[in-house]
Amino acid sequence: MADVMRHPFLKVENLSKEFSTHKKIGRVHKFVKAVNNVSFELHEGETYGLVGESGCGKSTTGRSILRLIEPTSGKCQYKGQDIVQLNKKQMFSIRKDLQMVFQDPYSSLNPKKRIGSILEEPMKIHKIYKTHGERTEKVMDLLNRVGLQMDHFYRFPHEFSGGQRQRIGIARALSVNPKLIVCDEPVSALDVSIQSQILNLMEDIQEETNVTYLFIAHDLSVVRHISDRIGVMYLGRLVEEAKTDSLFSEPMHPYTQALLSAIPVANPNRKRERIHLTGEIPSPMNLPNGCAFHTRCPFAKEICKVQVPTIKKMGEDHKVACHLY
Ligand code: SF4
Repeated sequence: MADVMRHPFLKVENLSKEFSTHKKIGRVHKFVKAVNNVSFELHEGETYGLVGESGCGKSTTGRSILRLIEPTSGKCQYKGQDIVQLNKKQMFSIRKDLQMVFQDPYSSLNPKKRIGSILEEPMKIHKIYKTHGERTEKVMDLLNRVGLQMDHFYRFPHEFSGGQRQRIGIARALSVNPKLIVCDEPVSALDVSIQSQILNLMEDIQEETNVTYLFIAHDLSVVRHISDRIGVMYLGRLVEEAKTDSLFSEPMHPYTQALLSAIPVANPNRKRERIHLTGEIPSPMNLPNGCAFHTRCPFAKEICKVQVPTIKKMGEDHKVACHLY
């Protein structure tokens, strides 16, 4: 893991994304609040893990930051400018700094193109090298860097295994020398042994290039392995944020405590009490008033049903949004 510097490299402020559902109640369209006033900072060269159950808004947060989908409101400050406000031309000029690695590399690789051409394309688009020869040299470097072979240059995506395709996905993101890579569940489709190879590769690349990762995953063991800090999301909101060690040793939010209690313990002599959550998960189309977790929270109080808890600083690097604190 890279040393975390204190300078915010990317500052996300009150980011929200609503989707129209095409459903109406009376004359009013129903919206899903996929991301609801999310704020956090990324520091240069760190890995920030974003976790939560499926549908909590973590992938939508990552895609909104990169403007792969348009956020409804909020700011993303990068190099003194708000990404959300940039026009197409301005966005294109910083696009190479902000790259993405997808969960399913196969569907993100053009099946009709050879790997050499797939890796060369972003360099052509962003005019990074002048000649085909320079680009080919860089592609060969990238193949070597991500543990693939020179002759893979001429192959098609279907000729590779899942782990190899994810290496290609990483190489493609690296081809334009990015400053931030949003990694959206990059290892969740892979076998456990391949997962650790890819995570180690990502760590090595970060050590060499000081690239920053926003690492989105539902698997807490994976996020723990790679992250310097972790943000926990529940139904579109950030409910807790802490340094990785602090989050695992002293989880504060009842939802985080329940998530951590579900991680299997390798040592049979060490027992961890599993917290079983009861109650319905609310529909994102119809969020309850107050704390969205109150329908499942074993500690819910009256105030939790009416007032949304704001996120508070609880120590040097720990924040939580809960009325218990
Ligand atoms: Fe539970 Fe209330 Fe805290 Fe929400 S605010 S997590 S309902 S105690």
